Amino acid sequence: MVFIMPLRKHRPKPLKQRRVALERIEVLFREADKAFKHSPALSNRYVGLARRIAMKYKVRIRPVLKRRFCKHCYSYLKPGVNCRVRLGEKQVVYFCFSCRRFMRFPYKNKKSGLTTSK
Ligand SMILES: [Zn+2]
Repeated sequence: MVFIMPLRKHRPKPLKQRRVALERIEVLFREADKAFKHSPALSNRYVGLARRIAMKYKVRIRPVLKRRFCKHCYSYLKPGVNCRVRLGEKQVVYFCFSCRRFMRFPYKNKKSGLTTSK
C-alpha cells in the first residue's frame, strides 16, 4: 500500500510571512548591535532568535548579517571586541574569541554582493 505524503509538508510559507520574517531578522540584528555595548549575552540571544526565524520561514539571512555572528557558537561578533578580522589573499578570516574558531569568507562570491553594500 502506498501512502501519499501530504503536499503541505515542503511548501514554503506565504511570501507575506516570509517578508515579515526578513524584516524581523533585520530588526533583531539592529537590536543585537545596540545591546552589545551593555550586554553581549543579550545580543547572542537576538542572534539565536533571528536564526530561528530564518529557519522557520526558510529565509536566508543576508550575507552581510552572516558575518555578524559566529557560525560555530552563534555569538554576536563585533570586530575588534570579540572577534578578529584578517584579510587573507583570497579570503577574509574571522576569528571568534568565544569559541576560538575561524570563519572564512572568500572574496569571490557573487551571491554575497558585499562589494556594493556594507
Ligand atoms: Zn564562536
